[in-house]
Amino acid sequence: MQRLVELIAQSSYVVAFTGAGVSTLSGIRDFRGEDGLYKTVDADRVFNIHAFVDDPSYYYRNTRRFIYDLDEKRPGIVHTELARLEETGIVRAVITQNIDLLHQKAGSRNVIEVHGTPSVHRCLDCGREYAFAHVAAIVKRGEVPWCVCGGAIKPDVTFFGEALPAAAIEGAVRECSRADLLLVLGSSLVVTPAAHFPLYTLDHGGRLVIVNRMPTPLDRTATLRYDELEEVFLFIRDHL
Ligand code: ZN
Repeated sequence: MQRLVELIAQSSYVVAFTGAGVSTLSGIRDFRGEDGLYKTVDADRVFNIHAFVDDPSYYYRNTRRFIYDLDEKRPGIVHTELARLEETGIVRAVITQNIDLLHQKAGSRNVIEVHGTPSVHRCLDCGREYAFAHVAAIVKRGEVPWCVCGGAIKPDVTFFGEALPAAAIEGAVRECSRADLLLVLGSSLVVTPAAHFPLYTLDHGGRLVIVNRMPTPLDRTATLRYDELEEVFLFIRDHL
């Protein structure tokens, strides 16, 4: 891991790309994991835009413990270290597949959320915006939030059947192309287009470091490869 610390120190534009593995360290259940949301809830329905438009209550009833209790979750070691490294000018951007707002909570400023964000909810009829805290208070009471106009309110999270947020995807591609070092953290790189982001770094002559429990399709292209996020970031905390 000394090599990793040296590699980071030698790089001039470090970007991090984070997936579910970073969040599970903060006690957030992986949707697809062993006690994940998809074990108890119909995955095809809960984040499906057509089902949501028909009946938003199914989504709100079933995500109460997964999304609307996020204010009770604390950033983990990866979140806090990435924020510190951004503060010191080493990390320039964090691109994340996660929708748990923990990078922002840890203090990261340049966060690109490629699967959208629950920080804003929007009325599907009139477009009026509602903050997370407003919606969360209603959902935690076991009720379904509705707009003052009577329309359904949907989080800015990307549902199945919706396009990913174009500006975020463009931003991610731009940052990955610019990076001379991309840290791939807790992502198995199987969901597109996220799986393609590291290719922009490699195509522009940058290097990859992958930290993930499971193998990824890009392991052989990585300069360094580790399994345990916590171990790696405790080392970074103490040596960088
Ligand atoms: Zn409305």
